[in-house]
Amino acid sequence: MDLRALLGLKALDDVQSALFVQPHPDDNEVGAGGTIAKLAAKGCRVVAVTVTDGRYGAVGAVDPADLARRRQEELVAACTALGIREHIELGFEDLGSYTEADVVEKLVPVLLDIRPEVVVTVDPWTPYEAHPDHVKTGRAVAECAIRLASLIVPQTPPAYVPLMFAFYASAYPNAAVDVTDYWPTKIRAIEAHESQFATPEWPALKAYLEFQAREAAKRFLGDGGDGRLAETFKLLSPRQLHFFPDAISS
Ligand SMILES: [Zn+2]
Repeated sequence: MDLRALLGLKALDDVQSALFVQPHPDDNEVGAGGTIAKLAAKGCRVVAVTVTDGRYGAVGAVDPADLARRRQEELVAACTALGIREHIELGFEDLGSYTEADVVEKLVPVLLDIRPEVVVTVDPWTPYEAHPDHVKTGRAVAECAIRLASLIVPQTPPAYVPLMFAFYASAYPNAAVDVTDYWPTKIRAIEAHESQFATPEWPALKAYLEFQAREAAKRFLGDGGDGRLAETFKLLSPRQLHFFPDAISS
């Protein structure tokens, strides 16, 4: 049975509007920067949401408020590099005591306003994911699917619920986007986050990201990957986000 067709899912790089929700100012670029650049270049409406200010994303003698300001500037530069023209900051404190429900409360009005076909975020169910901002953000995005389809959010029928949800950094990917032509743009956007990536480790990490992308292309794009680069996602219908154990293997 073609579950994807049954649920009306389509290719991630074939949507007209997409919302990318990231826990920290650089996660979208690392997880989906090539896909964002590709969609923006195709004329898709791409909106980015950043949940926290990233103020604790460093070690050493750094003032958290200064780091938050610096990361905001880096975020603007990265969005410009990717072609993102609309960006929303929810303003929660990095590693703060906010709850998943707090994020849901702020995200639902954003979703109702933009009404994207797909919402993309980090996979909160990736094994060993220990960062609370990633877990809370990913789960909050998924919870929006449940809330939007309930009386909690008053809507005149038919209720708006995104057609699809896509999770990057997933251990269970089931879809990929060919981002070969946009790889240099992705790298440029990542490098805009100097506070995070102007480090001795970056060349090795960059090589690893490219290795991952080549392996993903081999697995998902056919023809042995043909030297191409891909970003992978767990693509799910809202229906698969509740009472659907097969979602893990779909
Ligand atoms: Zn992060």
